[in-house]
Amino acid sequence: MKAHTKETQATMTPQKSLQFLKEGNLRFQNNLKANRNLLEQVNDTSEGQFPFATILSCIDSRVSAELVFDQGLGDIFSVRIAGNFINEDILGSMEFACKLAGTKLIVVLGHTSCGAVKGACDDAKMGNLTGMLSKIKPAVEGVTEPKDANLRNSKNLEFVDNVAKVNVSLAIENIRKQSPILKEMEDKNEIDIVGAMYDINTGAVDFFE
Ligand SMILES: [Zn+2]
Repeated sequence: MKAHTKETQATMTPQKSLQFLKEGNLRFQNNLKANRNLLEQVNDTSEGQFPFATILSCIDSRVSAELVFDQGLGDIFSVRIAGNFINEDILGSMEFACKLAGTKLIVVLGHTSCGAVKGACDDAKMGNLTGMLSKIKPAVEGVTEPKDANLRNSKNLEFVDNVAKVNVSLAIENIRKQSPILKEMEDKNEIDIVGAMYDINTGAVDFFE
């Protein structure tokens, strides 16, 4: 598989980009890899990059977007922050990636058993982590069940994963609300913005409908 070029990027649509990622994740789940020579891709991309998707994911060591979607050099912009939430800098990165660098798809990728989400569920406090986790708190509040406070913590993995899903949906809402540029691109069908969850037990990415 060759690195993307200006020509191949121009043939990409939001739908085709999503299809490429779905196929890549299927290869990953089946322990197959597209035949690519990374060193050759270093050379092929030295004059420029033409990626087709922008993926916001967690820093979790098990959730590398390039690996779980079986992508090579020059294929995706990878934005990573613990708990995959949105802030001004991340929106700026996404606006660059879509408006200036031509990617056709934004994926907000949450994952199961997320440590950052667990920290927010437990109201963990430590140094700069306190402020960071406060960005995930709206997702904790967004999950209304169970009501019993004793079940609303990191010991309840079902609760944790439900918070992670809401956290993805809120991130997408925030992209649309806080970035008129990306909202307009989506409205004109120049890009799609989709949510997904990565299952750390199976390697599968489940895209939200
Ligand atoms: Zn995480």
